[in-house]
Amino acid sequence: MAKKLCAACGKDFTPRPQARNQSYCSAPECQLERHRRWQKAKRQNDLKYREIDAEYRRAWAGAHVDYWEKYREENPDYAERNRQLQRQRNAKTRKVKVGRSLPGEPEFLLPSGRYQLIRIDSEGIANGNVWIVEISAIACATG
Ligand SMILES: [Zn+2]
Repeated sequence: MAKKLCAACGKDFTPRPQARNQSYCSAPECQLERHRRWQKAKRQNDLKYREIDAEYRRAWAGAHVDYWEKYREENPDYAERNRQLQRQRNAKTRKVKVGRSLPGEPEFLLPSGRYQLIRIDSEGIANGNVWIVEISAIACATG
């Protein structure tokens, strides 16, 4: 049987005769990576899967409300890194808002169009749920 290179770890392996087109070796971490990539592609390409998956994760989060709080307590580096990334995203958003203004226009005027709407908690941290919304300006008061 010809050997192949694993798509995750890059080492060569002998595919099992039962599994056609096997691209990953049987190491548990490579099988986990295979599943992770499959799930990512499925979320991108399959609307029904995405809805079911999102509903499942919402239900799981509802049943484990203190999971992320505990995780952040036990992994302060992770929490700090996330805070810094969020601050960078916040700064970027502010820059865009100010940068769009033209001479004579109010400073925060946004044109009609599609926007990403992200729910932000009292600490200014986005919670990860993103809506795409369409905003049509009807009137704009100046001054
Ligand atoms: Zn592998």
